[in-house]
Amino acid sequence: MGKHLPGLTGYALAALHVLGLDQRRCAHCLRPFTPKRDEQGNVSLCQPCAAMLKAYAGSRCRRCGFPLPRSIQPAICPSCLHDPPPWHGLAFHGLYTGPLRHMLLRLKLGGQLYIARSLAHFLCEAVACLPRPDAVLAIPQHPNHLYKRGYNQAHELARALCTLTGLTLRTDLLTRIRQSTAQAQLSAQDRRANVRNSFRAEPQTHGLRLWLLDDVLTTGSTLREATQALLTAGAKMVAIVFVARTPLRS
Ligand SMILES: [Zn+2]
Ligand SMILES: [Zn+2]
Repeated sequence: MGKHLPGLTGYALAALHVLGLDQRRCAHCLRPFTPKRDEQGNVSLCQPCAAMLKAYAGSRCRRCGFPLPRSIQPAICPSCLHDPPPWHGLAFHGLYTGPLRHMLLRLKLGGQLYIARSLAHFLCEAVACLPRPDAVLAIPQHPNHLYKRGYNQAHELARALCTLTGLTLRTDLLTRIRQSTAQAQLSAQDRRANVRNSFRAEPQTHGLRLWLLDDVLTTGSTLREATQALLTAGAKMVAIVFVARTPLRS
């Protein structure tokens, strides 16, 4: 509880709980709920929603997170065997289906920015497998795109993650210099061509260990291109962090 309302003593928190003043609204179903007093983890969700949105625990490709049968060993998908991605590690929360997909769409297309904080709690747990970086970056949007949407959902996620972890968010290291068209209807090959030479990494990237954030990984073409730009500029390590992995190749 101290984690939810910092600065309050145990007695004050107990009093708030008895009076129902620590009640909050679930970030997924939007119903009011009262967190349990000893509750840990994602305190922005009611218990039924937290259970529905729990992390993907199945077998996955260790290079791109694609779900794989446990019988495939080593756990690397054909795509990564054929064309290994450039990043050094990855962390994600779940698959891009059901309620998690719904939350991401509300954040990306519905302007519901408070969802970033809830999803960042998931990322906080997912990144425990990664070495702590010097800085966190979000996949940047082209200014024309930002102008239309008004925000960048990847930046909102990165900002919320940095607030929760105390890590440094850097917005000056990576820029989107070319505007790509919408990726959703493109094949994997066309996506690679669509984002080629889209990013510029600054020389200050040299020697840094970085986490690069995005909301969803589909074919990984955007994250590949951005990671490559950072490595070319001399980044020492790049790990990718995203909320959800699409379970099907498009
Ligand atoms: Zn709920
Ligand atoms: Zn893979």
